[in-house]
Amino acid sequence: MDPEVPFEAERREMLEVQIRRRGIRDSRVLEAMCEVPRHKFVPPSLADHAYEDRPLPIGEHETISQPYIVAAMTQAAQVRPGEKILEVGTGSGYQAAVLAYLGARVYSVERNPALAETARVRLAELNYREITLICGDGSEGYPSQAPYDAILITAAAPKVPPILTQQLADGGRLVIPVGDLAQQVLLLIFKHGSEQHTRTLDPCQFVPLIGKYGWPEKTIRTH
Ligand code: SAM
Repeated sequence: MDPEVPFEAERREMLEVQIRRRGIRDSRVLEAMCEVPRHKFVPPSLADHAYEDRPLPIGEHETISQPYIVAAMTQAAQVRPGEKILEVGTGSGYQAAVLAYLGARVYSVERNPALAETARVRLAELNYREITLICGDGSEGYPSQAPYDAILITAAAPKVPPILTQQLADGGRLVIPVGDLAQQVLLLIFKHGSEQHTRTLDPCQFVPLIGKYGWPEKTIRTH
């Protein structure tokens, strides 16, 4: 173990117990989860908890997702170097950093201006140059850079917005949690020409996707 690498023991335990044992086998995803410094994506007061098996608060009533969910979504998206990826729900910027570690060109949309700004500063400080942050309603996707090889939605949608599958390239993948406000399932949707195939992955619990093709704004106050 390298004493110079902060939280190395915690990272390795996270990788083995939370991720590998639960079925994540893509070696590149495992490497990314080990190498991206999750403790730098949470408030400093929570750094000691960054590698625990749970989401953590990042302010503004939002969360950084549980490590396993980040790994599962990343594996499902089948990201290859050089691909163009859209993430909706930047939050802390951690998922975007994992995608960038895999060599992707990442566009990440966050609706909350304060979170978007914090993530922008953090990702610049950590030298993630392949990530472009956009502040806006990502439930509409980000049409100006479409098509995308993969789209990851990291907030819960009531249903799959067709405007997102329209922004997928042929052969593209959409990973999205769909359900009610309390519980969702992670869906993986493949686009092949004019056809789509849907696979159901894990049950999950995300904060709501708020916007034109998500939940209405007032959901935030009642959730
Ligand atoms: N991927 C994030 C990370 O790595 O830290 C965690 C995402 S957090 C669970 C969900 C995020 O989605 C919140 O930051 C929330 O503000 C954002 N969000 C909700 N609705 C959105 C929308 N329509 N467009 C963009 N971001 C949205």
